[in-house]
Amino acid sequence: MTIELGKLPYEQDALEPHVSARTFSYHYGKHHRAYVNKLNELIANTPLADLSLEEIVDKARESSSTGILNNALQTWNHAFLWDSMAPDGGGEPEGRLKQMIESSFGDVSSFKEQFALAALSQFGSGWVWLVQEGSKLRIMTTGNAESPLNTDSNPLLTLDVWEHAYYLDYQNDRKGYTDTFLEHLINWDFAAANLQD
Ligand code: MN
Repeated sequence: MTIELGKLPYEQDALEPHVSARTFSYHYGKHHRAYVNKLNELIANTPLADLSLEEIVDKARESSSTGILNNALQTWNHAFLWDSMAPDGGGEPEGRLKQMIESSFGDVSSFKEQFALAALSQFGSGWVWLVQEGSKLRIMTTGNAESPLNTDSNPLLTLDVWEHAYYLDYQNDRKGYTDTFLEHLINWDFAAANLQD
């Protein structure tokens, strides 16, 4: 089976002016596509070629196959990122997610402050995640391609803090990019749908 580059859940210009179509043309059209292509190249004619993306991640973690693992995680992380943003994003979480944010961080604005601090504190390339661990939520950062996928931390949403995610629109202003994500793009419905019982 070939791992496919999934379709974006919106048009490339749908998040303007916050994320430009030009950024999507590189970030989705070139970076994400390159991870998918590289992964397919690496798994071709191996036992991994018949597995799902999540199974490939598990097998590559077990066998410390770094090249396959990095490309498989970047393939998965980027699809998860596209869903973590929405043209009508921002605003406030609702229902059970809101209650869990309040019990874990105090309130929504404290969550946003801590998320932004984590984004700025991640040295170099990586990801910021909101994850669920049982009845608690936590902010986690991972370096490079690392990801909470298939770990005890259940990912609810993510922000890519690799420079390729924001440099065309924000240059070196990671804070401006992160604040814009939290105010205008964050997809609370997606995070809520990822909650486990
Ligand atoms: Mn990226």
